[in-house]
Amino acid sequence: MSTLDAIILGAGLSGLATAFNLQDAGLRVLVLDRRPCPGGRIVSERIGGFLMEHGPTSMTGPAPATDALVARLGMADLRIDREAGLRNRYLLRNGAIHRFALHPLHFFTSNVLSPLGRLRLLIEPFVPPLDHDESVADFVRRRLGREWLEYVFDPLVGGLHAGDPERLSMSALLPRLKGLERRFGSLTRGILKARQTSKEIPGSRHLFSFQEGLATLPQALALALKGRLRMGVMVDGVRPGPSGGYLVMGQKGGETTRWWTPNVVVALPSYAAARVLESFASGPVQALETIPHPPLAVVFLGYRSEDVGHPLDGFGYLAPGIEHRPALGMLFSSTLFPGRAPEGHVALTAFVGGVRQPDLACLTATELEAAIVREASVLLNIKAAPVLVRTRFWPRGLPQYEMGHGARVEAVRRVETDHPGLFVTGNYLAGVSTSTCIEQAHSTAQRVLLGMRSVMSRSECQRIAQFG
Ligand SMILES: Cc1cc2nc3c(=O)[nH]c(=O)nc-3n(C[C@H](O)[C@H](O)[C@H](O)COP(=O)(O)OP(=O)(O)OC[C@H]3O[C@@H](n4cnc5c(N)ncnc54)[C@H](O)[C@@H]3O)c2cc1C
Repeated sequence: MSTLDAIILGAGLSGLATAFNLQDAGLRVLVLDRRPCPGGRIVSERIGGFLMEHGPTSMTGPAPATDALVARLGMADLRIDREAGLRNRYLLRNGAIHRFALHPLHFFTSNVLSPLGRLRLLIEPFVPPLDHDESVADFVRRRLGREWLEYVFDPLVGGLHAGDPERLSMSALLPRLKGLERRFGSLTRGILKARQTSKEIPGSRHLFSFQEGLATLPQALALALKGRLRMGVMVDGVRPGPSGGYLVMGQKGGETTRWWTPNVVVALPSYAAARVLESFASGPVQALETIPHPPLAVVFLGYRSEDVGHPLDGFGYLAPGIEHRPALGMLFSSTLFPGRAPEGHVALTAFVGGVRQPDLACLTATELEAAIVREASVLLNIKAAPVLVRTRFWPRGLPQYEMGHGARVEAVRRVETDHPGLFVTGNYLAGVSTSTCIEQAHSTAQRVLLGMRSVMSRSECQRIAQFG
């Protein structure tokens, strides 16, 4: 008999949040991860007063599951919000960066679009809606024209998702915008309506982090799960157990260990989940294997403030593919959140690679850093060398929600219906953001509890609490 109720594979945010929710409900859990430290793609590092985020930089809200988790962990005091009043973003065009704000009417007055491109917005409400899915590029060309694709959506999708709008599915990647077209027949009408009711522009959400970076969250989760984490365990496979439940096989230091458990939650990146679930039906495994993860690199730069000519008065800049620059974009990290650079210094974070330029994310650190330092000097009028440079390579960065992604997710989800007690969660299912991972973890934990209640006796059920 196993003394465990559930084994969670992966100690990234998805796995840790699922495990925490299950532990909170009274379950005996165990989390396995191949790395020495928990957190997965969330890696914050402080060096000499600079705080670097080698993976995600900020979380988005309002997100009820995230807010509840932060409160439950007693971390509300550690949370820091985006600098108040920060509105500007920059867009690279014709070799220079131009200020804009993320609102259709501001695009109308700013010079990031040509007069013709701006006038095209007036036609948008009269473009007939289309019901079926299409690529982000086809959607934007149809509704707003080529210039909006090249200078607004391509840099957004490149900078935030490291993706190519020609290949990405509108319904899977930007369901809220597709929904506005469906509901209101037009994006501009929908956005103006949404603004009347919630004062919020779809897509422009509240950004926050923690004083010592985003890694504070997985660290707090790991602390709460103390004794329930096994780091350095490479999971090789999951198999149905001979008399129900599942057998999890893992390697640590050359030794194979096996665990038996009635419930397994696979919270691994899709390519790793495919390998681990190889012995199950080929449909879900194939779907997991075919989700691309192009390489990404993150280059952190620290400068003396006096050497930087640009005021860095915004979130950062995004670079459209058509401009052929080495970075997808650069965040003005020390403007975005306080405490990211020591007194008299500023911090920048550049993102490189993705579907657009995968080769650049495979250069050596020296080559890449030289290219990014040059780029920052030109665009931000920087006169001297950085005082700190660090690069982190992600050979498989973010999952791409390409055309057909909806069908792939359905196929993956079938593993849960076909194999009671086996669950999947992660950033390839409903959105890549950290807040969506937490939301998914919450609903995954609820499915585990529901499954357990259906097979447990009344007295056993009392051990398991409800959670909101
Ligand atoms: C460069 C970058 C910038 C980003 N920026 C943002 C941002 O600003 N805001 C935002 O909200 N999101 C951002 N994201 C996305 C977000 O960070 C991720 O989607 C999220 O952290 C994924 O969490 P996860 O737990 O699903 O996966 P992961 O973090 O990938 O965790 C999976 C875990 O599984 C483990 N694992 C893999 N294979 C095995 C195996 N065989 N056995 C055992 N363990 C295994 C790994 O070691 C890892 O710990 C960014 C991502 C990247 C890469």
